[in-house]
Amino acid sequence: MRIARYSPAGGGPASYGVVEGDGDAAAVVRLQGAPYDGVRTTEERTPLTEVSLLAPVEPSKVVAFGRNYAEHAKELGNEVPEIPIVFLKPSTSVVGPDAQVTYPRLTKDLHFEGELAVVIGRTCSAVAPEDVDGYVFGYTVANDLTMRDIQKSEGQWTRGKGFDGACPLGPWVETELDPSALPLRSTVNGEVRQDGTTADMLRDVGACVSWISQAMTLLPGDVVLTGTPAGVGSLQRGDEVSVTIDGIGTLTTRIAGG
Ligand code: ZN
Repeated sequence: MRIARYSPAGGGPASYGVVEGDGDAAAVVRLQGAPYDGVRTTEERTPLTEVSLLAPVEPSKVVAFGRNYAEHAKELGNEVPEIPIVFLKPSTSVVGPDAQVTYPRLTKDLHFEGELAVVIGRTCSAVAPEDVDGYVFGYTVANDLTMRDIQKSEGQWTRGKGFDGACPLGPWVETELDPSALPLRSTVNGEVRQDGTTADMLRDVGACVSWISQAMTLLPGDVVLTGTPAGVGSLQRGDEVSVTIDGIGTLTTRIAGG
C-alpha cells in the first residue's frame, strides 16, 4: 500500500491518503486521520493530478546515519566508522516531493545524497534488531541535502545537514516492501550520478533502527535515514535532482536560486 499526504491542488487542508493505480489512472483515497493506528478510508477519491503531494510524514525527528556504505565513505576520504555516526535533521528541514529548495546562502558546495528512509509506525524504544520489523510502518525516498563545506568545517553536522529544505521526502510511503536489496539511483538533470543498492548498507535497517532506539524513543511518523551509496556530488542553482528507489518511486527536487 502507498500512503501519501496531500492537499487539494488549489490549496486546502492536508490529509493522508492511499494512492491507487498508476499513471493517468492514479487516484488518492482520503483517510480519516493518520494511518499509524489503522488505515481508515473514506469515500473521497481524487485523481492524483488534482492534488499537491506533501511530505508523506510529519516526523518529530529525522535520525540519519553517516557513512553507512563503504564506497561512499571512501569517496569522501573517510574510514568506515566502527561505531555508527548518527545525526538529527529537524522537522523544519522536511519538504515534500516536487519541492523547490532554495540554494542556501551559507554554502558554496551543496550536495545531494539519495537514501532509503524508514518510517516508524509504532512507538519504539530499546528494540532488538530482529524485532524492528514490527515497528516499521514503511519506506520512502529521501535526499539528505548537505552543505558539504559547512559540514566539514564544523564539529557537529547540525547546520550542514539541518537547514530549511535539507530533507526532501516522498513521493509516498510504501508499506509492503523488503528493504534488503533495493536498487537506488540518483540523477541530476537526467544524468545518472548514483547507481547503488541497499544491499551494500554496512548496517541494515534492523541494525540502524535498533541502534538509535537504545538512546531515544522513536514515535509514529519518525524517520530514519540509512545513509547514501557512492556518487554524491555538487548541485547548482537551477538543477533538478531525482532519487529513485525500485518498489517505492521517484523523489524530485528543484534547486532554486538564493
Ligand atoms: Zn546522508
